[in-house]
Formats: sequence, structure tokens, C-alpha cells
Amino acid sequence: MSKAKVEYIWLDGYKPTQSLRSKTKVIENFSGKLEDCPMWSFDGSSTEQAEGGSSDCLLKPVYVCADPGRKNGWLVMTEVLNADGTPHESNGRALIDDDDNDFWFGFEQEYTIMDPATQLPIGFPAGGFPAPQGPYYCSVGANNAIGRELVEEHLDLCLDAGLNVEGINAEVMAGQWEFQGFAKGAAQAGDEMWIGRYLLERVGEKYGLAISWHCKPVKGDWNGSGMHANFSNDVLRTCGSKEIYGKICEAFGTQDRIAAHIAVYGAENEQRLTGLHETQSIDKFSYGVSDRGASIRIPIASVENGYKGWLEDRRPNSAADPYKVAAVIIKTVKTACKSLDLQTA
Ligand code: MN
Ligand code: MN
Ligand code: MN
Repeated sequence: MSKAKVEYIWLDGYKPTQSLRSKTKVIENFSGKLEDCPMWSFDGSSTEQAEGGSSDCLLKPVYVCADPGRKNGWLVMTEVLNADGTPHESNGRALIDDDDNDFWFGFEQEYTIMDPATQLPIGFPAGGFPAPQGPYYCSVGANNAIGRELVEEHLDLCLDAGLNVEGINAEVMAGQWEFQGFAKGAAQAGDEMWIGRYLLERVGEKYGLAISWHCKPVKGDWNGSGMHANFSNDVLRTCGSKEIYGKICEAFGTQDRIAAHIAVYGAENEQRLTGLHETQSIDKFSYGVSDRGASIRIPIASVENGYKGWLEDRRPNSAADPYKVAAVIIKTVKTACKSLDLQTA
């Protein structure tokens, strides 16, 4: 008989930014399969998800993978349900309308490694600043690449867990890094990003370092943190039409859709979407080929492939919920395709 440590992970109900929570269930002779992960429950009154009088919320397992950082360990992403089995209002995954996995998502998750003692990014001296940004992006060497040991350990954990992390890089601000994840299917893309974030938080514990998901951890002339959302559906992957690409981009540009998207693109995004630092201003919408100052970029690879490819929404920030980001993008793209009378799978 073996006893597995199965970590149930969920998102709490804090606003405007939800945080990861988790607890361990010891399961005898665990198969590692999702169908063998039982439903579980937790005290929602401790996570802003229920009142004390009827505090039980349910955890519905939706994704399981190995936990390479723990002996006999597994990680289970879960959705939070109300006691009656309906999705809790904090449950962004339940908003995703992609049952056939037509939508593929690639997220570029930026983050900043913080020293809990100073509440500054690592590499920032107390009471001062490091050299101005410029040399840090994709750097090597101890002056500029700060935190690599933690970052490398995180990458190994993700790969050993079986997450489809596709790359990492040092970012523009000192102490700021990025990992990229991709999945065919919006829900799975979100699951893998949340587990990737979980593993990053946990490896940070080992180093006594915190992860800041805030989109502007240092005010002033320092880059903010984003979570660019690269996406496609069958139409974008196969249409071969500049006109259709334009129409889909324009569907994102109506006032009501701009508001719907910004509402879930992460808290305090106005601090980051200023029109500077490779962003478009939060109150403007634009799209363009290869334009890193646009809200939505049409990657040159999509153009060179004859408008068979994907789009990149550059507005989501590092603290946004990838489930909610995916859900709102799917809604806009599906609506656009429908009005163009294009079949969406
Ligand atoms: Mn990137
Ligand atoms: Mn980046
Ligand atoms: Mn990007």
C-alpha cells in the first residue's frame, strides 16, 4: 500500500485579485487519474467565498499532474462549486465556452521576484535603485540576470510535472522574469498556467523569496508585468484571409467589448497600459501587424503564413486570471465569427 499526497489547488474569492489556496489529501493507492480524485470541500468563510453560517464550498477536480517537488506527490487543479453543485461566482473556469477545445491559448506570464524583507524586487538595493533598465532583458551574468537559480528550478518542476511550458526569459526590469505556457483547449491552458504559478510560489518559499503578480511592482520608468494572451481558433488557423483577421480584431474594439475585456485583464492595469513600455493606453484600442504598441498584435508569422495563424492580445496583465481572459476572448471571437457567418467548430 502506498499513500499519495494529493494537493488540491483552488482560487479564493478575494477581489479584485484572487489568490491560490491549497491543501493536502492523503489518498491510498492513488492511480494518478482524474476520475480517481474525489470531490472535496473547504471552509469558504476563510477565503471570502462563503458566510460563516453555511461555509462549505466544494472542490471539483478538473486537472491532475505529478508533483515533482514532493515525495509521492500529485497536484490537482479544482473548480470551486457552491454547496448545491453550481459554479461559485469566483469560478472563472466555468465561464469558458470551449467544450470542443477549438481554442488554443499561449500565455506569456511575467512576474517579479521580491525580497519579503524590503518588499523590493531582488536586485533593488534598499532605499535605492539598480542601474536603469536596458541590460536586464534576456541577460546573462551576475550583474543583470538576478534570480536564475529559482527560475531554473521552477522550469524543471513544470517540465517534470508534465506542464507544456514552452520557454522562459529574463525580462526588462531587474528581478523580472517570464514563463510561457501553451495548450490546445482554453480550460487546460488555464489549468496549466495556474499550476505553473503554484509551483513558482512554492519554489519561492524555498528561497525565502516572494512572487509579485502585480502589473506595476515598481512605479516610474520600469516595465510593468503582463500576461500576453496568444490565441487562435480554427477560423484564425485556416482562413487565409486578411479581411477576416481585420474583422475579428475590430470586434474587440467596440466600447462594450473593450470594457468587458479590461474588466478581467487584471487589477490596476491603468498603471501598466500607459502607451509607454511597449503598451497601448488603457483607454485606446488599436491593432496592427507586428505592433507592440497595439492592443492586439497580428504576429508577422501569421501574416507570412498567409493569414493562417493566431492573434496576440497584449492587454492582460500578470495578475489576470487566465480562465477569465480566455473566456472573454472566446466570447468576442465567436461573436465575430458568427456575424461573419463563419462556422466555428
Ligand atoms: Mn514573451
Ligand atoms: Mn515578456
Ligand atoms: Mn508577447
